[in-house]
Amino acid sequence: MIILERNHQIGGNLQVFSRDKTVFDTGVHYIGGLDKGQNLYKIFKYFGIMDHLNLIRMDEEGFDRINFLGEEKVYKYGMGYDKFYENLVADFPEEKEAIRKYCDLILNFCDRFPMYQLRDEVGKYSMDETLLVNAKELIESLTDNERLRDVLGGTNALYAGTEKTPFYVHALVVNTYIESSWRCVDGGSQIAILMQKEIRKHGGEIVKRAEVVGVESEDGKNLSAVVLRDGRTVKGKNFISNMHPKQTIDVVGEKFFRKAYVNRIKGLKNTISSFTVHVVFKKKTFKYINHNLYYFNETGVWDMVDYDEAQWPMNFMFSTPANSKDPEYCDGASIMCYMKSELFDPWRDSFNTIAEKGQRPQDYLDFKEECTQKILDLVASKIPGFKDKVESYYASTPLTFKDYINTDDGHLYGIEKDSNDGLKTFINPKTRIPNLFLTGANINLHGILGVSISSIVTCAELIDRHELLAKINEFGE
Ligand SMILES: Cc1cc2nc3c(=O)[nH]c(=O)nc-3n(C[C@H](O)[C@H](O)[C@H](O)COP(=O)(O)OP(=O)(O)OC[C@H]3O[C@@H](n4cnc5c(N)ncnc54)[C@H](O)[C@@H]3O)c2cc1C
Repeated sequence: MIILERNHQIGGNLQVFSRDKTVFDTGVHYIGGLDKGQNLYKIFKYFGIMDHLNLIRMDEEGFDRINFLGEEKVYKYGMGYDKFYENLVADFPEEKEAIRKYCDLILNFCDRFPMYQLRDEVGKYSMDETLLVNAKELIESLTDNERLRDVLGGTNALYAGTEKTPFYVHALVVNTYIESSWRCVDGGSQIAILMQKEIRKHGGEIVKRAEVVGVESEDGKNLSAVVLRDGRTVKGKNFISNMHPKQTIDVVGEKFFRKAYVNRIKGLKNTISSFTVHVVFKKKTFKYINHNLYYFNETGVWDMVDYDEAQWPMNFMFSTPANSKDPEYCDGASIMCYMKSELFDPWRDSFNTIAEKGQRPQDYLDFKEECTQKILDLVASKIPGFKDKVESYYASTPLTFKDYINTDDGHLYGIEKDSNDGLKTFINPKTRIPNLFLTGANINLHGILGVSISSIVTCAELIDRHELLAKINEFGE
């Protein structure tokens, strides 16, 4: 097995970067499902990495906290369904029944995806029906209490939730964090580094600075090799693409696929992009916070993606990375906001990464600074004294993700799922080319758990699925 990675750092969104000796995550703030017996725990055990991860369990009283403009009250998501229910009932005593129904629905929808629970069985629910249930509508049907509705959708930045988001996406994501939430101490890149070690131990090879730009086919039907940017070719029996399906089509060539498939894939909308400010704090000024804060300066959490530019930023997610040097104080914080990718169209042709230095125009840098100041102002309005503690700050834009991850628009989580046409946004790992398969965030589900499950779904096309799942489930405890 050989893995071809175009960057000089492996891991994609698991990459970290360091500024002023502070390590920041680029695309992973926390992960779920890592308690003994939970799905990601079993998968990471099977991968051989679980026992070597340096993790911190987030605050069980409230690992995610939600706050709205003009309200002192902070709503806490408790860890475990009992604590989750108990906290919400304490805040909304009149809504016991709605909260109970909501928890039951989350569990019911997770149950509809056997692979999510690593169960070796065919689903007993109609997928057509499941994919069409809308998250916002279902939550609204449970309660008339607008604040509770917003609190239940309050972490929808985790999947870039919109009015179109299917409930299954909400359920699969929210459930994993309710089960158990964890931060990677000193960054998420440890997952990629440990995976690299295991892959090499099992005879696999990882080649960095190896961008796939084309393919070769000897019979016009199967692929025989991929072509790298520097002209090298790498032969293979089977090929798995972790790129966005649109880019996979471009690299492989449209002629290999049915026109209808090309049109469908190319017509799909991606999730919104992000603008993240990473601040470095003055030494020992900002206490480490073992939870994430989701803030909204408007009600209606499902409308945030279609924000009015004059009012941006409308919401943010604030998280402090955990570091091994000092458990009491943190070195920095990351503040993530939605950002429409098209606002960066004027500079789309520019390119800049650490490995391949380039120039971004001055008006881009000015716009970036303007956005950064708006975010810092908003955070300061919620956290008194915040700005005085900031030593320096850096920002990532949709173009940062475009350049580091190789997407066309720097989207957060790949293809946007749509409850109006569930099957259209559900991508099959098999392609028309018998020896080309797809994997990653666009297959099934995004996120670290999502792509781990996608890898199993893809592998099940190549090896015995029953045997694979049986082996993973051996790591139950
Ligand atoms: C800002 C942000 C915050 C997030 N927060 C969280 C979080 O807190 N928890 C969580 O679980 N998930 C989070 N996610 C989602 C999660 O990071 C992603 O869903 C997941 O990492 C995607 O993994 P992937 O395997 O699809 O590939 P990616 O991580 O997208 O990586 C793709 C890889 O393919 C390489 N590549 C692309 N084109 C080529 C080519 N032509 N040749 C060779 N290599 C190529 C890229 O360089 C990259 O390394 C976040 C994402 C973002 C953007």
